Amino acid sequence: MKRQQSRLLETIQASEVCESDERVRYRVGDRQQEFHKDFPLILTIETSSYCNLKCVACPQKDLTRERSFMDPELFRKIVDEAARYDVRTWLHYMGEPLLHPQIFELLDYAKHSGLRHFGMSSNARILSEDRIERILDAGLTRFELSLDSLEPSLLGSLRPGGDPEEIIEHVHDFFRIKSARGQRHPITSISIRDLQENSAEAEAFADHWKDILQEPDFVLSLSFESWGGYASRDHAMFEVPDERRPCLKLWDTAIILSDGSLVGCNSMYDAQKVMGDVNTASIREIYDGPAYREMRERHIEGRACEIDLCRDCKDWYREYDPKQYKNLTAD
Ligand code: SF4
Repeated sequence: MKRQQSRLLETIQASEVCESDERVRYRVGDRQQEFHKDFPLILTIETSSYCNLKCVACPQKDLTRERSFMDPELFRKIVDEAARYDVRTWLHYMGEPLLHPQIFELLDYAKHSGLRHFGMSSNARILSEDRIERILDAGLTRFELSLDSLEPSLLGSLRPGGDPEEIIEHVHDFFRIKSARGQRHPITSISIRDLQENSAEAEAFADHWKDILQEPDFVLSLSFESWGGYASRDHAMFEVPDERRPCLKLWDTAIILSDGSLVGCNSMYDAQKVMGDVNTASIREIYDGPAYREMRERHIEGRACEIDLCRDCKDWYREYDPKQYKNLTAD
């Protein structure tokens, strides 16, 4: 593992490297990035693979794998291991976490587990006042509300399945209640995904929320993601250089699906390639296991095109793109 990482550092021509017992930091372009030596830096736990919207740019609605809510016992096993590392943990993936019938018990377990960073996202469709209060009590360090538009007809077409006006109202309710409680945490973002349909709206979207949000909350622009080619190129602003570099997802990310299958990136959203099963192995064993090692080797050696999933995938570039995440409320 260590040998692989130092070869990666050479490959990306690190100009500044800092190594500690637990982490390696390197420079990619004009920014620094770091990862753990033997554990993913970002861990995503799919608490629910059921959703209550059918967003156009999201493959959830077309999953062929069996949908489920994560078993609380499996969730506790994952969180117990993750709490031993300084890992950023997200408790949602292909689905709406608030649909999980025991979501607040899971959040309570995470809160008392010793996890330093755990966040969750919601589409706000069932974000009632009662749920808002419970989210604000849950000890989350981050919360994200995915919205994409303030124009009800556009929101309804990008994120069909709910009443768009009600969803927008729920988001306003969240900030009204949070403000009334005088509470800073969880740091909350409202995200707008970069799509051709809403690109003209991004500035007005940010201006609207600037008047409502209080620091440290912010509006987050997310660059387009194709989910390994699932989302149509036609509605993307997606510029990828010809020169291919190793996909850093293979070093910094692990996603655990609701049944315990561990996948390595968003192109594996339908369990197209499973790196291991967290029901029977630890995350660390899988992260340092043969499936990850083989993929990393091919990427380091410039042979990513030998991997079916990676051959035409352009999402690797998001990790090098300074516009992957952009704070639209920053001065
Ligand atoms: S290149 Fe694409 S498919 Fe391959 S590991 Fe990276 S994100 Fe996944």
